Amino acid sequence: MLVRLLGTGGWMPTDRRETACVYFRDGADVLVLDAGSGFRRLVTDPELLAGVERLHIVLSHFHLDHTAGLVCLPGLKHVPAREVWAPGRLVAGEPAEELVHRLLDPPFLAGDPGDVTRIFATAVHELSRDGEIGPFQVELRVQPLHNGSTLALKVNGELAYCTDTAYDEENVPFVRGARTLLHEAFWPGDSTDDVQHSAAGEAARIAAAAEAERLVLVHVSPLILDEEELVASARARFPNVEVGRDGLEL
Ligand SMILES: [Zn+2]
Repeated sequence: MLVRLLGTGGWMPTDRRETACVYFRDGADVLVLDAGSGFRRLVTDPELLAGVERLHIVLSHFHLDHTAGLVCLPGLKHVPAREVWAPGRLVAGEPAEELVHRLLDPPFLAGDPGDVTRIFATAVHELSRDGEIGPFQVELRVQPLHNGSTLALKVNGELAYCTDTAYDEENVPFVRGARTLLHEAFWPGDSTDDVQHSAAGEAARIAAAAEAERLVLVHVSPLILDEEELVASARARFPNVEVGRDGLEL
């Protein structure tokens, strides 16, 4: 399984980072976690989808830095199956399909509401439980510590992805068993009083308690200019840490 980070920023894209998107490839199947602005790389770097027959798009929640990339879908019509899996009922209390329509329907982008499942995606699924998505095993946990809940996600039991959450110890048993943890670090420092987001030291605490092998910090704030500060804050608690950068292969 090939894993590549397509977007490692949070909130807004910068010259350095697109927003949230993680790419997994297994033969003719690609799965992405989140469709932030980094999702556009599937259009601008065609190699990523060469020979791909099924694209599975799994959303952690609906905030725009995780969904704005869905505007790129009309550029991916060469992939026969383009399916969105979204936790509408779990994190927003509304059906996934309605929420995806709300994002893309007229007057925002599509010319006609039917375009969403004709031109953009070939299907929109309600993501509500652990299961297989193509050849990928996807596990999920609702993270309540954000404005609106979000999902922590795990792929093939190997890689856990926890973003858009304040420090949440309940993620430790969920992450346990995964070798790699992608965890948000919106702020440097050992802790933060931001009730929506985590500091690098808090990401490191989760990685250490869950006995991960590797921690990659993602969803970095565009306001952070000194990334070494993020690493230093985390390294005190978990040595094998780095800041994710767009294009990094894991
Ligand atoms: Zn976000």
